[in-house]
Amino acid sequence: MSEEKRFLVIGAHPDDADLMFGGTALKAVRKGCKVKFISTTNGDAGHYSETRENLAIRRDSEAQEVVIRSGIEAYEILDNHDGELIPSLENRKKIITRIRVFQPDVVISHRLYDYHADHRATAQLVQDSAYLVMVPLICPDVPVPEKEPIYMFSHDFFKSPAPFSPAIAVDIDNVLADKIQLLDCHVSQFYEWLPYIDGNLNEVPGNKEDRVKWLAGERLAYYRDQAAAAGELCLAMKHAETFELSEYGRKPKDDELTQIFHF
Ligand SMILES: [Zn+2]
Repeated sequence: MSEEKRFLVIGAHPDDADLMFGGTALKAVRKGCKVKFISTTNGDAGHYSETRENLAIRRDSEAQEVVIRSGIEAYEILDNHDGELIPSLENRKKIITRIRVFQPDVVISHRLYDYHADHRATAQLVQDSAYLVMVPLICPDVPVPEKEPIYMFSHDFFKSPAPFSPAIAVDIDNVLADKIQLLDCHVSQFYEWLPYIDGNLNEVPGNKEDRVKWLAGERLAYYRDQAAAAGELCLAMKHAETFELSEYGRKPKDDELTQIFHF
């Protein structure tokens, strides 16, 4: 049933979709599903030495390398400055239009509770769009999809006002190396900006082979923690990407989510 499913992953920055859904995307693509990543900002603030202009160009080319390595349909970057995203009417229309054109079975984004203002604004935009996607007089130039999408949230550990409550877990144990290869595309982030802001830039190995191993050591614990936190959903899984069901959008029937995420 999952062969031709379509997944639209909407993150705030060019790397969020990979972090949220990279392993699932790899498994989905290998089953014949279609996956598209969108970044609602161009990521032009995440660096300590690049200019905004240069960084936006670098991050776009890093994202396009993800398309090559993963086989997803596209990695689209919207022209909004990093750190300045507003859940405006203009941006809402951009999201509504893109959901209608791609016609996803499932849309995945951040929750409304998050440390980063752009993540919260992206979550707001997606939630604001969820109902309006099916209203023909909104953005009337783009027809509403035949089937209303299901909306889901990617994992986080924020507790207030409500902790993440997973509805589905995807076992990514057999795609870990390839998932790290997707993160490895974002050189400006995982080997430069993030270690800089975390204070461990001096630990990043100089050669490519060693730094991929270092990246796996830095990043995979998060997916072990997700699996552990999901309890019974992840009994046989060491590493998982987990997703919460939004109350907006289409309500999946019975075991529909299990079938959609059966890779
Ligand atoms: Zn982000």
